[in-house]
Amino acid sequence: MSKPVLIVGGGPAGLSAAHAVASAGQKVVLVEKEDRLGGAPILSGYARLVPSHEWAKDAIGGMVTRVENRENVDIRLGASVDTFAGNPGDFVATLKDGTTVEADAAILATGFTHFDSVNKPEWGFGTYPDVVTTTQVEQMLSSGAGVKCPSDGRAPDRVAILLCVGSRDRQIGREWCSKICCTVSANIAMEIREALPNCNVYIYYMDIRTFGLYEGEYYWGSQEEYKVKYIKARIAEVTSDGKRLLVKGEDTLVKRPISIPFDMVVHAIGMDPNVDNMTLSAVFDVKLNKYGYIDKASTYAHLAETNRPGVFVAGSASGPETIDDSIAQGQAAAMAALNMPRNRVMEAAE
Ligand SMILES: Cc1cc2nc3c(=O)[nH]c(=O)nc-3n(C[C@H](O)[C@H](O)[C@H](O)COP(=O)(O)OP(=O)(O)OC[C@H]3O[C@@H](n4cnc5c(N)ncnc54)[C@H](O)[C@@H]3O)c2cc1C
Ligand code: SF4
Repeated sequence: MSKPVLIVGGGPAGLSAAHAVASAGQKVVLVEKEDRLGGAPILSGYARLVPSHEWAKDAIGGMVTRVENRENVDIRLGASVDTFAGNPGDFVATLKDGTTVEADAAILATGFTHFDSVNKPEWGFGTYPDVVTTTQVEQMLSSGAGVKCPSDGRAPDRVAILLCVGSRDRQIGREWCSKICCTVSANIAMEIREALPNCNVYIYYMDIRTFGLYEGEYYWGSQEEYKVKYIKARIAEVTSDGKRLLVKGEDTLVKRPISIPFDMVVHAIGMDPNVDNMTLSAVFDVKLNKYGYIDKASTYAHLAETNRPGVFVAGSASGPETIDDSIAQGQAAAMAALNMPRNRVMEAAE
């Protein structure tokens, strides 16, 4: 390979792909539309990450520095790809500033868009200032400001975290599970209890998906060690009695209506397809799946591939993913891009 690998998106997946390609001695052009690298954990100001408990600014910031220090990575910030033509080994991309970039292969690591809670108006976001999202709570924790009610700055005595906001909800066209929000919510609940020991924290759920080893530390740990309470419920609406927020619905275990007061309500928002995906699909001539994420080959032998030869995909661009899996997929896509010429020769010989 002589030309660079074009990597679009500088979040965990793109950073991991860039590092892997550069470590193999290959040039990289890394195109990021925002004015800094790091993806959602940095751009949205996440606090301590699951499962490592490292601060996002240290863990993902370290990945950014590692890539910035590579001489063979050409980073283009505030940039995007307008056109992309050619074939594997011989692609030409035009960036929005008119620059052209030649590339052997491309990796789309363009990530996801946070669900916008205004699309779930009956749950109070946008109507009541003390109804917030998990990203807002992450920002409160990472900024050191502490968890406070936005309306008047008081520390809350009672917090409700509502799971599956913008996920597993067919009524609003979002059938998928966002994978990590149960665990992130349990983590946030424990952080609130640690910072505010007198605060009661309740998690409203349909099902709990603290998958794999997270079950012990997060699901059981939050209840046994941190006294977080879980309510299996179908939520109807979030309103206010003038003093406090009221979460109304049905306790689905005892099949009774419930209306419980809180100072703060947190929406555990899901991972929507990137709002740019229609454009990316047209520019790169790659298919989207029925949910609007970038479609990837489903066979085990071709995991990072899209429908277009030489264009690969990694991370949450192709569906909700954790950071660990996004990083692993970035490395897999890098390996697929680097091995492409060799594989083409071998396949031609077969
Ligand atoms: C509230 C919340 C908390 C979370 N906490 C955790 C956690 O603790 N642990 C965990 O494992 N996971 C967590 N996640 C999930 C985590 O955010 C994702 O796994 C991770 O961000 C995916 O990385 P990515 O690189 O695929 O995408 P992203 O982080 O979305 O990065 C994509 C990058 O591509 C750029 N981009 C997008 N479109 C374009 C374009 N058209 N042109 C150029 N650049 C573009 C974006 O600006 C961004 O920099 C959390 C998610 C949420 C919602
Ligand atoms: S991980 Fe949990 S909160 Fe997130 S969508 Fe899946 S079940 Fe709902």
